[in-house]
Amino acid sequence: MQRLLTLLFFLSISAVMAQTAVLKGKVVDKTTMEPIAWAVIYTTDSLITAESGLEGHYRMSRLVKDKIDIRVRAFPDYKDTLIDGIDLKRFKKKSFIIRLTPEDIKTVFSSKSDKCPVCLSAQNAVPIIYGEQTFEMIAQQQKQQLIFAGCCHYPSYPLWYCKKCRVKY
Ligand SMILES: [Zn+2]
Repeated sequence: MQRLLTLLFFLSISAVMAQTAVLKGKVVDKTTMEPIAWAVIYTTDSLITAESGLEGHYRMSRLVKDKIDIRVRAFPDYKDTLIDGIDLKRFKKKSFIIRLTPEDIKTVFSSKSDKCPVCLSAQNAVPIIYGEQTFEMIAQQQKQQLIFAGCCHYPSYPLWYCKKCRVKY
């Protein structure tokens, strides 16, 4: 019994020492306040990532600092957003609402980063789409105007595909 109590004592001490914070809330559209599903939220050191669910809710746990910087990505519909200096103590019980600004898709796909690293041209580049597919997108894929690459998008994933060189970048 004595031994068990000692063990419990040390376990509770290590639990206190390893205490981490949680940030939770909702990702919404800045203009309509509609929830945004499948947004990727990650700390700027990329150690902790989370994804918003269908109702826009997210939960980041195991946060070790008092203040954190996060990046939020819901490509290609919303602009990448950096939020810095979030005081976790302030949002211990309150939820942290993340508001994203809608992206103009045309500006995303006409950006300079669409140049292929092999042929150095954007002539054969098509965008890589992550997430839900619309009927219009399926028609575009059949015409090879874009390609699909699964449901989830992470910051390191490629955005373009060169049809000539067959590379994703
Ligand atoms: Zn190329």
